[in-house]
Amino acid sequence: MTSEIETSTREGRQALARKMTERVCDSVEQLLGEQYRVEPGVRPNYFAEGFVVDAFRVTERCPRKLAGPQSDYRDSVAMTRRRVGLLAVRELANSAGTSQPMLVSAAVQQVMADPTNWPASLRDWVDSLDRAGQAAVAAAAITWAESALRLVGRDARVKWAEPSQKPKWNVPGRLVQLSASVDAVLGGVATGEKLLILSDAVPGPGDRLRAGFTALVRTLGAKHAPVRVTVGSPATGLMQPIPVTQDLLELAADRTVEMIGLLANPESAGTVPGRWCSYCHLLDQCDEGRTQLAPST
Ligand code: SF4
Repeated sequence: MTSEIETSTREGRQALARKMTERVCDSVEQLLGEQYRVEPGVRPNYFAEGFVVDAFRVTERCPRKLAGPQSDYRDSVAMTRRRVGLLAVRELANSAGTSQPMLVSAAVQQVMADPTNWPASLRDWVDSLDRAGQAAVAAAAITWAESALRLVGRDARVKWAEPSQKPKWNVPGRLVQLSASVDAVLGGVATGEKLLILSDAVPGPGDRLRAGFTALVRTLGAKHAPVRVTVGSPATGLMQPIPVTQDLLELAADRTVEMIGLLANPESAGTVPGRWCSYCHLLDQCDEGRTQLAPST
């Protein structure tokens, strides 16, 4: 029996990153064979020709729902409030220590007033809204930022994420990208990173997988494993710290490879009906889902 690699030292965190890179690359090689190879000299387009695996997909419980064609992503106030809220808490962190600490509402207003440096997709969507729509985004962003700060505290050591910069890792030579989402980071690669992800979902068993996937993507991209991922739930005020272990990363790596297999070969995906059928984009064509949701007699 081989012992687990510890994340308590920098060498251990590096060794774990090497091991996970090897594990994912070998598994994808076996799984995909000649499918989804990057053409030499051609810039890979992961969205159009390959696929992107994110935490939503890894924690999806029904394989068919995961692998079925996704309805086009559309921005919404719920999705946008985090991005604007993050820009605002970064603004607040910049103003900390000055003689006039800023209010959250003032930071959001400041961010909304100058979208010059926003990610283009965010700017275009907010620009397309009328005044009432923009006011709704601002109000939601204030609530998001207030609750995030209430949960985490105004700690100068916490580095809030730039919303357009997500941890990503491209599987070498394949049209497959892993993409995670981190809200804040404490510490650095040398001392061991502690990642924070905020979740609107009710805390539950999926948190461990979400944390593991986030840690995996960061591990592969930074070539160092983080030491901890904390899942915070602003809605309930709960913070769940999840230590990053070899066991956790292997769980996430195996699930990620499974997801890659389903996305590459969607016809192999079975169904797992559940309460999640009610918001599935495939419900109209899915007998199992409709049966699941039919009122019992
Ligand atoms: S309706 Fe339910 S069972 Fe059918 S694909 Fe969607 S989530 Fe799966």
